[in-house]
Amino acid sequence: MKNFTYHRAKIMQEVVKRPADAMVIAGGTNLVDRMKAFLDQPSQLVDISHLALKGIDRTRQGWKIGALVTNTELADHPDIRRAYPLLSRAILSGASQQIRNVATVGGNLMQRTRCPYYYNPDTPCNKRQPGTGCPATTGSNRMHAILGASHHCVAVHPSDMCVALAALGAIVHLESAKGKRQVIFNDFHRLPGEQPDRDTILAAGEVITAITIPRLPFAQSGVYLKLRDRASYSFALISVAAILEVQDQRIRNARLALGGVAHKPWRSLAVEQFLVGKPVEETIFHQAADQMLQAANPLGENGFKVEMSKRAIRRALMLSAKGGGIA
Ligand code: SF4
Repeated sequence: MKNFTYHRAKIMQEVVKRPADAMVIAGGTNLVDRMKAFLDQPSQLVDISHLALKGIDRTRQGWKIGALVTNTELADHPDIRRAYPLLSRAILSGASQQIRNVATVGGNLMQRTRCPYYYNPDTPCNKRQPGTGCPATTGSNRMHAILGASHHCVAVHPSDMCVALAALGAIVHLESAKGKRQVIFNDFHRLPGEQPDRDTILAAGEVITAITIPRLPFAQSGVYLKLRDRASYSFALISVAAILEVQDQRIRNARLALGGVAHKPWRSLAVEQFLVGKPVEETIFHQAADQMLQAANPLGENGFKVEMSKRAIRRALMLSAKGGGIA
């Protein structure tokens, strides 16, 4: 790890006016690992953990969650569990209890891929060092992307929480020296394209201050289904966040997002629109799953993810149509 200075911020101005090569730290559960591996080498860490960004508050727009709320606090909050059960389940399916106790909501959005080539300084990697190449395209790629990748990078976003937040249509609150802005969750993370080193649309000096989850009464039927190699402490091979509002056996509202398949949580508004107005039938869910994976372009070792995703989508939609309730 390269030497760095440490500054505990007392006010937001100290954060948004940090030096260009400084980095923001809160829980540090991914950043410290990256620093140990020399992936990030900031001159200074600006610790935001003492700022007033810790509330879980009901607002007119929905629930506003401070960036410093820990994963555990959010997953265990009784109103969140009641209103957005799939969010609690997504959070509790990720990492370990110890990590969830310190990892923050803002940090969860900012965590980076766990592609093994990215963490290995002896291999090239376009995300770590642009222009060096992507060995995962032809190498070990069982865990990698099947949707939205480019030949520059086939990594996947590792978060479970973010898949649920994408389906819920959350809003991300950002602040910089120029002011505040809000971004739709689906627009916050990027696909790799020509710039795989950029994971998000965050501008220089910007920091996440909160997220807002809109009021969504039908989210109580939401399902988060995660398929992985081990029963716990394992990243998703694929995951599905599905929410259906059903009345008289017809779908009135639909939300659908996938994890473990792309450089960002993969939500399809077109598939959601396809589902609206349709009857609750297996054949409809088959068609929705096929549409969701229509553009899939698997790599050498991860073709199984296509069929696995389709089956998981069908199961998650059916469970949600029946009222949800799966961990
Ligand atoms: Fe690097 Fe992305 Fe390729 Fe992994 S998939 S080696 S992170 S460029």
